[in-house]
Amino acid sequence: MLPSYDPNNSEAGMKLLEDLTSNAYQIQQQVLEEILTRNSHTEYLKGFLNGHSDKTLFKEKVPVGNYEDVKPYIERIANGEPSHIISSHQITELLTSSGTSGGQPKMMPSTAEDLDRKTFFYNLLVPVMNKYVEGLDKGKGMYLLFIKPEITTPSGLSARPVLTSYYKSNNFRNRPFNRFNVYTSPDETILCSDSKQSMYCQLLCGLIQRDEVLRVGAVFASALLRALKFLEDFWKELCSNIRSGHVSDWITDPSCRNAVSEILKPNSDLADLMENECSGSSWEGIIKKLWPRTKFIEVIVTGSMAQYIPTLEFYSGGLPLVSTMYASSECYFGINFKPLSKPCDVSYTLLPNMAYFEFLPVERNHTDSEVVRCNGVHEEDRDDHLQVVDLVDVKLGQYYELVVTTFTGLYRYRVGDILMVTGFHNNAPQFRFIHRRNVVLSIDTDKTNEDDLLKAVTQAKVVLEPLGFLLTEYTSYADTRSIPGHYVLFWELKMKGHNNVVEAELDGNIMEECCSRVEEWLDSVYRRCRKKDKSIGPLEIRVVKQGSFDALMDFCVSQGSSVNQYKTPRCIRSEEVINILNSRVVGKFFSQKTPSWEPFTMEIHVV
Ligand code: AMP
Repeated sequence: MLPSYDPNNSEAGMKLLEDLTSNAYQIQQQVLEEILTRNSHTEYLKGFLNGHSDKTLFKEKVPVGNYEDVKPYIERIANGEPSHIISSHQITELLTSSGTSGGQPKMMPSTAEDLDRKTFFYNLLVPVMNKYVEGLDKGKGMYLLFIKPEITTPSGLSARPVLTSYYKSNNFRNRPFNRFNVYTSPDETILCSDSKQSMYCQLLCGLIQRDEVLRVGAVFASALLRALKFLEDFWKELCSNIRSGHVSDWITDPSCRNAVSEILKPNSDLADLMENECSGSSWEGIIKKLWPRTKFIEVIVTGSMAQYIPTLEFYSGGLPLVSTMYASSECYFGINFKPLSKPCDVSYTLLPNMAYFEFLPVERNHTDSEVVRCNGVHEEDRDDHLQVVDLVDVKLGQYYELVVTTFTGLYRYRVGDILMVTGFHNNAPQFRFIHRRNVVLSIDTDKTNEDDLLKAVTQAKVVLEPLGFLLTEYTSYADTRSIPGHYVLFWELKMKGHNNVVEAELDGNIMEECCSRVEEWLDSVYRRCRKKDKSIGPLEIRVVKQGSFDALMDFCVSQGSSVNQYKTPRCIRSEEVINILNSRVVGKFFSQKTPSWEPFTMEIHVV
């Protein structure tokens, strides 16, 4: 099913992308036919289709569902029942998603063939990048990539994050160009299970090869910023290793140590240069200073990662931020065909041979499609009344929730991502990632999702920026211990040009203005509750010490989140997590004004 071509041939890659997008309809039909023919005898599909593989019947009978519908089957496989209850192909591993169910990561089925599909997808990113940036073959990429520990299910299957699975596969080791050493991180440093040693060694290798580095990246923006923070903490030691040509003794992982030792030679010029750049009072533009040939930063900055853009711009000295792809544990979805476009303009074109894609139209304010209980716990309307549409039938400007039928045993599965159609590449639609469904704050009848919160916070931080503050991280929770309850936002701030925290410089009036600004930009239901119903109290901002969100991440990682896939939760609920941040608060501020609200202004803020 996967078309074959020479991945080293950019022209052939671009031609293939043109073919795929031109024939989106035909390919989608073939994909569905193949999935149904293969899997019509699985227990799951038999229950709806009685052994038939007819596409129309599939659409009539198989319900659109979410994780709870497939979870019992996945758990049965994890406990030793045969794969064919959901998939005719052997399920070779389970991929743990950053989405959770009942406090545990959701587990997505995967097959051997799926690794080839991912490789096919990754290979197609190369010609797109080459089309827009010349000469990438004249140097290296410093990509900071990490694995995380995995568990084995009772049936002996590995359960691990999708990227860990990929990096540990032969497909990754044998990826095109790897044999020409075009990446600064030796595979051994990526595959090191100690994340601190892995990070240290990858940075060391990246620094040693600084003159060759043409692009710098990680999967998500947050991972790259974490690496920069690590560099801030460890640059002196890295310098001393470079000066002496000996890697620190605490790097004990043998393959990691060997891989680094092979390229580490005493280099006092480089050590001097690093010392000079890193000991400066500001780290503004540090990426460009340390890796001067870098042409762009490759990290995902769409969706919840958008809030890192200013910090990345600060560190990168204005280099283009490139979000190349949109993917998940369930399935890899789409490619950004215009990688140099501004982050706010990024759209992804779904590749029609990755899965069978359907779309649930959603109301922009979601009030019709979701029934939300207080405090972020929600039940969802199954949207049975809404007609799902095919990939080629989506309408420009319309919002949809993505539904996938994969080659690996998910049928009409709601991914939970809300996308907006921004255009078409040939016959394939392009989507802007809007947000992940159902990240909400709720006190009364208000429902604030991640996107709404980001918008309001973005407006509020405008107040701070002229004063030299950067909002580097934020999250929120609905504090219902007092009556009425209120929204609490935790903000981590940084002073431009300094590496230090800013506790003393906080101006109460300005911070209160930020609180009011957030409220002003929240939706009309929130403002009605606040102003008219008085069912919500004044919004509070708690400023936390620098490093607090690192502590939050460390905690989440210790609970099973993956470092690569970690995204700061924009809404927290667990007492333990809230305590982590509460114990680091340096200032608390409340909105002093009630926001404006008029009964007939049910406006929708344009994203
Ligand atoms: P996971 O299953 O943990 O790999 O997370 C997959 C989810 O991450 C997707 O469903 C999206 O919500 C989010 N995601 C992945 N790629 C992107 C992207 N390029 N832009 C925004 N969000 C993304």
